[in-house]
Amino acid sequence: MLPRTAVLFDIDGTLLDFHGAGRKSFVQALEQMFGWRDEITYIHFHGNTDLNVLRQIFAAHGAELTAAKQRDFFAALAMELNQLAAEAPSTCHPGVAGLLQALAADPRVALGIVTGNIESTAHIKLHRAGLRHFFRHGGYSDEHADRADIARQALGRLRADLPPGTDFSAVWLIGDTPSDIAAAHAVGARCLAVATGRSTIPELHAAGADAVFPTLADTAAVLHALGLI
Ligand SMILES: [Mg+2]
Repeated sequence: MLPRTAVLFDIDGTLLDFHGAGRKSFVQALEQMFGWRDEITYIHFHGNTDLNVLRQIFAAHGAELTAAKQRDFFAALAMELNQLAAEAPSTCHPGVAGLLQALAADPRVALGIVTGNIESTAHIKLHRAGLRHFFRHGGYSDEHADRADIARQALGRLRADLPPGTDFSAVWLIGDTPSDIAAAHAVGARCLAVATGRSTIPELHAAGADAVFPTLADTAAVLHALGLI
């Protein structure tokens, strides 16, 4: 059976919580690469993308972000997160493992990642949470600052596995912020929003989510909302 439904997952706040290790790795990589001691308290990570964060930091420092600096910083970021990950607790949000198992076992479903992380740190976070094996494809922030472009990249990679001339009949993005909802709608997808991040259920409704859940714990209810049962 061919996959008919693409289900794309955001990582932070949706699948897992890395308890500040992502922010800490940014702070440490900034000092290591550029000698900047900056706690980046002016940066909001929720719903943001790593490339956009880096651009915001360079703008705050009045510095020019070259392609080489971007590449070198992202390499340092992955090294810092890898070290922190050895000790940092990583918590899967309720129901995540059960939902992913159900979706992965469904031949109608193609799973993907749409995250503001760069690919290397996304993989570190997923691996640490025991979720890496669920995802072959994704869209990441290495080249894209706009989450809609990241969603486009992920969908393009998932579609490359489909027979030529065919397409998904439904695309869902599961995320925890208004940025996920906007990115989903920008690429013609629907958004199932989950309030396990910073955004509340009313905020996610107000941002136009197509479905809102307090957590992903009720697998049957989520599968029903996705049109799979
Ligand atoms: Mg998120």
